[in-house]
Amino acid sequence: MTDTVSKPVKYPTIHLQASRQRRVLQGHPWVYSNEVQMDTAAKAVPPGSPVRLVDAGGTPLGIATFNPHTLIAARMLSNDPATVVDHNFVTGRLKRAVELRDRLFDRPYYRVVHAEADGLPGLIVDRFGDVVTVQANSVFMDLRIDAILAAIDEVLAPRAVILRNDSTQRALEGLPEETRLVKGVIDGPIRLEENGAVFFANPLDGQKTGWFYDQRDNRAFIAALAKGGRAIDFFSYNGGFGIQCAVAGATSVVSVDRSALALENAARAAEANGVADRFEARRADAFHEMERLGAAGETFQVVVADPPAFVKAKKDLAVGCRAYRKMAKLAARITAPGGYLLCGSCSHNVDPPTFAEQVARGLTDAGRTGRILRSAGAGPDHPVHPNLPESAYLKAIVLQLD
Ligand code: SAH
Repeated sequence: MTDTVSKPVKYPTIHLQASRQRRVLQGHPWVYSNEVQMDTAAKAVPPGSPVRLVDAGGTPLGIATFNPHTLIAARMLSNDPATVVDHNFVTGRLKRAVELRDRLFDRPYYRVVHAEADGLPGLIVDRFGDVVTVQANSVFMDLRIDAILAAIDEVLAPRAVILRNDSTQRALEGLPEETRLVKGVIDGPIRLEENGAVFFANPLDGQKTGWFYDQRDNRAFIAALAKGGRAIDFFSYNGGFGIQCAVAGATSVVSVDRSALALENAARAAEANGVADRFEARRADAFHEMERLGAAGETFQVVVADPPAFVKAKKDLAVGCRAYRKMAKLAARITAPGGYLLCGSCSHNVDPPTFAEQVARGLTDAGRTGRILRSAGAGPDHPVHPNLPESAYLKAIVLQLD
């Protein structure tokens, strides 16, 4: 990183309030601002600096990134107080993350870095073969973006790199939004592979990082149940669930989304996978379309409803839960007897039991019974920090309905 390595490195010291060290000692990666002795010296530490974290008595706890202006004031980088946060530190963590993915996947299409769980708090890196997207969600990562890009070049040697700095977390850190090509040329959608199928995404102007690799295993699971029947995929985005159902042998598939660009990518994927004759892209509001199909008495062997986060902030929990419940009800209504329903949620503010409860209630509202076949989270390229349950944000419940 840009920090010069002159040994020993002396980082500013940040003291915790009395008896606030326990969570850090138990392995939690964050310290909130009210747990820090926010004196003049602490307030003067430039946002994004590495700091030496000590308890109220001065006992070292480790090295963290620090921002005196955010609710999450410190994010742990290492419990070893002698850690030097230099280029080798980032490259080392990046290499470790890539080695794990190399072992997990045959093909170079996956999330490379999943922030805290990969020891790089605030950093997201996705790989689409030789195209890489990067999101720096903290001032610390943002300030070191050139060094991070250099480490990515060293470890992954991509042909093109896109900075996707458009997340809501950046706003919390006081960082501006920007999406920018920082290396190479991108002309048109980029190609990616998942579970043996080919897809297209627009990381320069699509949503988030261009593709949601997190549902990989859940897509494979539901696709295997779609053979020989009709499938419909609500909130389809670039066609991940639906196209995989078609490739697995569904007789027909409809992808429903309100984004024309997403549906263009889905249609292109249908062509590329040789299933265009069994595929329809339908631009519609998902809730309206579910209502319409329900009223028309249409049913499908497989129904997928994996929407955007309905609960973006804690205060929206009640409203968002009602939306999940309604979604489950409407989706259940158009699931054929004996058919399969997948309900997904990527709201980190909704924990798995709460989501399961909304799905169960929705089923009851629809007058349907069934059984849960799978309750799962994200695939292993989105690892979970063991002491940060919020990093397990994804939920997917698959049911068979009677
Ligand atoms: N299921 C997707 C991920 C969903 S992303 C996947 O497997 O990759 C959310 C998608 O929902 C976006 O493509 C967005 O355009 C779409 N969307 C959001 N609100 C919608 C609505 N009311 N009706 C239809 N599509 C909607």
